[in-house]
Amino acid sequence: MSIKIFLDESEMPRQWYNVAADLPPTPPPLAPNGEPLTPDVLSPIFPMNLIEQEVSTERWIDIPEEIVDILYRWRPSPLRRAVFLERALGTPAKIFYKDESVSPAGSHKPNTAIPQVWYNKKFGTKTLTTETGAGQWGCALSFACSLLGLTCKVYMVRISFDQKPFRKTMMEAWGGKCVASPSNETESGRKYLAKDPSMPGSLGIAISEAVEEAVADKSGSTKYSLGSVLNHVMLHQTIIGLEAKKQLAKIGIKKPDVVIACAGGGSNFAGLAFPFIHDKINGENIDIIPVEPTSCPTLTRGIYTYDFGDAAGLTPLLPMHTLGHNFMPAPIHAGGLRYHGMSPLVSQAVKCGLAAPMALPQLESYSAALTWARTEGFVIAPESSHAIAAAIREANKAKEEGKEKVILLNVSGHGLMDLAGYSKFLNGELTDYSLPQEEIDKAERELDNLPKI
Ligand SMILES: *Cc1c(COP(=O)(O)O)cnc(C)c1O
Repeated sequence: MSIKIFLDESEMPRQWYNVAADLPPTPPPLAPNGEPLTPDVLSPIFPMNLIEQEVSTERWIDIPEEIVDILYRWRPSPLRRAVFLERALGTPAKIFYKDESVSPAGSHKPNTAIPQVWYNKKFGTKTLTTETGAGQWGCALSFACSLLGLTCKVYMVRISFDQKPFRKTMMEAWGGKCVASPSNETESGRKYLAKDPSMPGSLGIAISEAVEEAVADKSGSTKYSLGSVLNHVMLHQTIIGLEAKKQLAKIGIKKPDVVIACAGGGSNFAGLAFPFIHDKINGENIDIIPVEPTSCPTLTRGIYTYDFGDAAGLTPLLPMHTLGHNFMPAPIHAGGLRYHGMSPLVSQAVKCGLAAPMALPQLESYSAALTWARTEGFVIAPESSHAIAAAIREANKAKEEGKEKVILLNVSGHGLMDLAGYSKFLNGELTDYSLPQEEIDKAERELDNLPKI
C-alpha cells in the first residue's frame, strides 16, 4: 500500500490548466462605475501580461521555465494517503490528501505568488502592495518578492494582525513590510478608523488600502497583487490538481469519487478541483465540494450578482457569489475564509452544477483538526480543517453505504502559526456563528443598487 506518493522534478506539470476554456463564459467584469471594463481601468492596478492571462480562454498555458525552476524548492508536493484517519474512522473509503503545507510560506499561496511576482518583474514593477487575512498571502508574496528582488507592502486585517503577531515577523524575515488594516496610511483606512478606531477590519477593507496605494503611484512602478479570486490566480494554482492526477495514476487510481477543498476566495479549491472539473465536463462522475464556514457562507447562501472585490468599491465589479462588499464576517479563526466574495470561475462552476458547496461550523472544523492531529499527526491550518471535517463526513457516509470511495482533499496549509485559535478551542472558548437571514437580506438590498447580471 502506498502512503506517500511522490513525483520527481521532471514529472512536474509544464502547463497550467485554464478552466475558462471549458466553462460557459462568465459575464464580463465591469468598471467600478458599471461601464464596460477597458484596459486603462486595470492597468494602474495590474501589469498588462497578467491582465492578458486574466482574460485568456486558452485551455493550456505554458509555465515559464524560470518559474518552474523556482517552484522546484518545494514542488511537486506530496500526495499522502490518510490511512491512520481511515483506520480511526473504520471507513472503507480511501482518503488521499495533497499536502500544500510544505511550501516555504506554509500554504498553497506561493504557487501564485511566484508567477505573479515574476510577471510583474518582467513588466518593470518595482513594488507590490497587497492585503492579507490570516497572514498566509502576505508571507507568500514577501517570500516571492525576496527571491525576485521586488519591494513588498502588506495590509494585514487587524483581527489577524493581533491574533497572529508572528506572521508579521515572518514577512519581515523575507523583507516585507506589514501594517495593520484599517491603517492611517490611506484615505480608505482613515475613513474606517474615524468610524470605529477598534474595528477588526476585513479583507475587503485591506484590499481597498492596497489598491489605493498602488494606484496613487503615478510612476506606474507600484502594482497591486491579489492572492485569490481572480482568474489568473486560479490558473496558477491548478498545478496542485494536475500533480494529484499524475500521483493517483501512479498507484492505478483512474479518478477520485469525491474532491474536497476549503474555499475563501476559491484558489486552493480551484487549484485542486479545476483539473477534475475538466474531467467531469468530459463525462466522469465526480462529486466536487468547496467547503466554507457557516459564518461566511458565500457559496451556500450568498447572492450571484455583480459586486466589488473590496469594501470601498475601488476594484472592478465581478460576477460572483457574494455576501455584499460591506459584509463584516464574524471573528472566526480561519482568517483566510473571511471574505465576502468568491472567484467568478468557482461561482460559475457552482452555478453550472459542476461543484456542490457545503458550509460547516467552526467547532466541527476544529474538532476535525484535532482528530487529524491525533491520527495523521499534522497540525493543520484552521482553513484546511473545514476540508478535513467535510472529508470525515464523506468517509462516514461511505461507511454507512458500504462503499469503497476514493476521497481526495487539499490540505491548504499548516497551522503552526495558528496556535492561538487551537488554544482557544482546547480551552472551550470558541463558539459557532451562524449568519442571521437579516444580514443576507441587508446585503441583497445593498447589491440592488449595483448592475445586475
Ligand atoms: C488563504 C488560505 C485559504 C483560503 O483562500 P483560497 O483562495 O480560498 O484558497 C485557505 N487555506 C489557507 C491555508 C490559506 O492560506
